[in-house]
Amino acid sequence: MKVDFIIVGQGLAGTLLANELFRQNKTVMVFDDPVRPKASSVAAGLINPVVFRRMTKSWLVDEAFPQMESAYMQLGELLHRQLYFPGQMLKVVREDLVDLWKNKTFANHLESYLNADPDFNLENKYFTKAFSFCCVNKSGRVDIQSLIHSFSAFLQEQNSLRKIEFDYQKLTLETDGVTYGDLRAEKIIFCEGSSASENPFFKKLSFKHSKGELLELKISGLNLDKIVSDEVFVMPIGNDRYKVGATYSWDKLNWETTHSARGELLSKLGKIISINPEIVNQKAGIRPTMHDRKPVIGLLPDNPQIGIFNGLGSKGVLLSPYFAQQFAQYLSGKTGYIHPGANIIRYFRRK
Ligand SMILES: Cc1cc2nc3c(=O)[nH]c(=O)nc-3n(C[C@H](O)[C@H](O)[C@H](O)COP(=O)(O)OP(=O)(O)OC[C@H]3O[C@@H](n4cnc5c(N)ncnc54)[C@H](O)[C@@H]3O)c2cc1C
Repeated sequence: MKVDFIIVGQGLAGTLLANELFRQNKTVMVFDDPVRPKASSVAAGLINPVVFRRMTKSWLVDEAFPQMESAYMQLGELLHRQLYFPGQMLKVVREDLVDLWKNKTFANHLESYLNADPDFNLENKYFTKAFSFCCVNKSGRVDIQSLIHSFSAFLQEQNSLRKIEFDYQKLTLETDGVTYGDLRAEKIIFCEGSSASENPFFKKLSFKHSKGELLELKISGLNLDKIVSDEVFVMPIGNDRYKVGATYSWDKLNWETTHSARGELLSKLGKIISINPEIVNQKAGIRPTMHDRKPVIGLLPDNPQIGIFNGLGSKGVLLSPYFAQQFAQYLSGKTGYIHPGANIIRYFRRK
């Protein structure tokens, strides 16, 4: 069987890339190991255009945000479900920092994403006190789990999905393509999330993954309709349910949930909301991240039949549509451009 591209992995990266390749009239076969966990099954799907710690725009947000909106709308239409939930996020601001926030908003050109003037003394009977908030107008969430699940069904309908582990040993490189069992393709693109660290073709890349955990809570009566962000975010997902996250750790990179992360999240939540939540679920995952926290996209210089789309880190929702479109156009020969910040070539330059 002949296809244009083999894609390994159907998390957010593989899903968005397969969709963009279809839009370029290309054929694909996706391999996805049903046993291996995915970060995309854990992610909250939060959209945050601002780096609160530095009060700057998130990297590439001006370019990536419009592409993000149109991609999730298009996928929603294709898959007949709402995937993109635009909304506001209220960032708690300490009162002594209000002037600094205002100044930084203008200095760093954040006005199109948030209100420069914080709202004072916003109250909710469950808040531990009356807080000042800065309102991020361009936020919201994407239902990543619904996207992955429904796109998997879509791929199956097209006979474009094999739910099995891909075995590197069985890949044969030809001068003008690859073969894998009964399949022949022009190129193979690995979208394996954190498993890419074990991929023998990408030994030169520097991964620095991080583990994250989050909670799904039922908090009856809280009635939040906006995301609230302080040391943790509290994201309403309907029916009195909220996602609260997330932790970051760089040691013990495994997919196990821990008591310490649960304690950390509940204690940070307790600083803003005084209510006893019911814990519905706790999830842990590994964010696929590069040493410089930028994605990695492109083809191997010595083996251009092999490519990668990875390193989405904690910004998968925002950045994956932008880079999936760029990479699909590159793979289809429409452009020769990959953003230098994300181009794989940075790992092959002489030091
Ligand atoms: C706790 C937590 C919260 C997060 N919250 C957010 C958030 O709010 N907003 C946001 O933007 N991002 C968030 N993220 C980050 C987000 O999850 C990632 O950026 C994104 O999901 C990465 O997608 P991916 O496709 O690269 O990897 P993954 O989702 O991990 O997918 C990789 C896929 O490759 C498959 N695979 C690997 N090797 C093989 C093989 N040999 N054969 C076959 N299949 C293979 C796996 O089975 C898997 O399906 C969060 C992450 C975590 C852990």
